[in-house]
Amino acid sequence: MRRVLTAAIAALTVTTAGTVTTGAPGQAALPGWGRPAPASATPTPGSAGLGDSYFPDYGNGGYDVGHYDVRLRYEPATDRLTGTTTILAKATQALSRFNLDFLLGVRSVRVNGWPATFKRAGVHELVVTAPRPIAKDQQLTIVVTYAGVPSETLVNGYSGWTRTADGALAVNEPESAWWWFPSNDHPKDKATWDISVSVPTGVEVVSNGVQPRDPVAEAGNRTRWSWRSTKPGATYQAFLAIGQYDIVTDTAPSGQPVINAYSTTLGDREPAARASIERTAEIVDWESGLFGPYPFEAQGGVAGPIDGIGFALETQTRPVYGPGFWRRGANPYVVVHENAHQWFGDSVSVADWSAIWLNEGFASYAEWLWSEEQGEGTAQELFDFTYAGYPADSEFWQVLPGNPGADRVFDDAVYDRGAMALHQLRLAVGDQAFFRILRAWAARHRYGNGTIAQFQALAERISGRNLDGVFTTWLFTAGRPELTGAARTAVAPVQPKSWPRLREAHQLLPH
Ligand SMILES: [Zn+2]
Repeated sequence: MRRVLTAAIAALTVTTAGTVTTGAPGQAALPGWGRPAPASATPTPGSAGLGDSYFPDYGNGGYDVGHYDVRLRYEPATDRLTGTTTILAKATQALSRFNLDFLLGVRSVRVNGWPATFKRAGVHELVVTAPRPIAKDQQLTIVVTYAGVPSETLVNGYSGWTRTADGALAVNEPESAWWWFPSNDHPKDKATWDISVSVPTGVEVVSNGVQPRDPVAEAGNRTRWSWRSTKPGATYQAFLAIGQYDIVTDTAPSGQPVINAYSTTLGDREPAARASIERTAEIVDWESGLFGPYPFEAQGGVAGPIDGIGFALETQTRPVYGPGFWRRGANPYVVVHENAHQWFGDSVSVADWSAIWLNEGFASYAEWLWSEEQGEGTAQELFDFTYAGYPADSEFWQVLPGNPGADRVFDDAVYDRGAMALHQLRLAVGDQAFFRILRAWAARHRYGNGTIAQFQALAERISGRNLDGVFTTWLFTAGRPELTGAARTAVAPVQPKSWPRLREAHQLLPH
């Protein structure tokens, strides 16, 4: 949805922020450690990044995470977070050491039970050296204990962890996990996760997925909340909302659990929040008809607190919405947008952040489809009005939705021109092929990743047409495309009924 750090992070040079060493390096391998590395596979360091073209040091090489078990204790009064995260992973190469992405103070790291040495590097790298070499394909159990005050842990003066009057929100894109659990922080390494948080009794904790158990009372007048995500997701899809929430549970017509949560701080915006988010099951059902089966195990939404975030994010199974969306009444368009991301962004994630159009163009176009469905303006009318709204000499047309640049990942062009690009594809191939393409894309790359080139290839295969013109013109060429033939816009398009609410949502969606 949006980010604040932008390219500042990518441009930072590596600085060393203190070195902490523990454990017992150099111990001999013992039986039971796993298969010894064959002599030919000399262990080498896992890379410090996955080579993303915008954020090359995000994520890490040499291993693949299957599951995170994140066990936390949080103090709203002080914002102090302590935790133990257990990572189940598999080595994809013989490793002499590997990196995790993390910012808080680390107390200990163990790898398969053995104390490991660790040190910090760069902005967010935790370099872990296991006491014994790691063989390719070896199963790894990495246990990291840590503590810190996330809201005071700043990168370029910024924290992705938002402290509020009654708790906190861990909601951000692409950088979020750094402030609360160590991870391989790139959408290419998807995993399932369990999250549990101990808080003072009376405070609620909301996260992704389902609750595998009811909240459990702990000593010291505390309560531990547990959440579970059973489908693989990207690390930035994990979230925490801690504070005073009214949690509403129900069952969707599909039979899935619906868990919505409303901050009690919203005042007169709360009815509008409920009138929007309570339509989630209806909207997901409608989107399932367009995009194919809903990919996850639960549905819902979180209306964040009045002093929380100024945007919304498609956190897996349960988007989190800032209070701004409800300032002028209910707005289902943002609910449509964030839940469309469950297919496009969450289940099918970018393989590289440069392909953000695959997330934001699609979620924005879903809003146009909802407008059409509601009789509040067709996608064609919204295309015409959007096109006419940006003069040919506008800076807007200089940003390429298909490769906007690291500091423009959430530019208006990615959303608006991104939606226009999909509309042009729809015009080029016809409705039947267009919706077949969307469903095939969601099915083929479910719980995985995709590139724009793969999407174009799929669209060409299904439509039987060469679509190079559409993709090149609308995603990869600066300047306002000329409209010809069927795509010609009306001279003075009328404002569609849905426009004010679409604009209200979009003023907050990108940054
Ligand atoms: Zn979005």
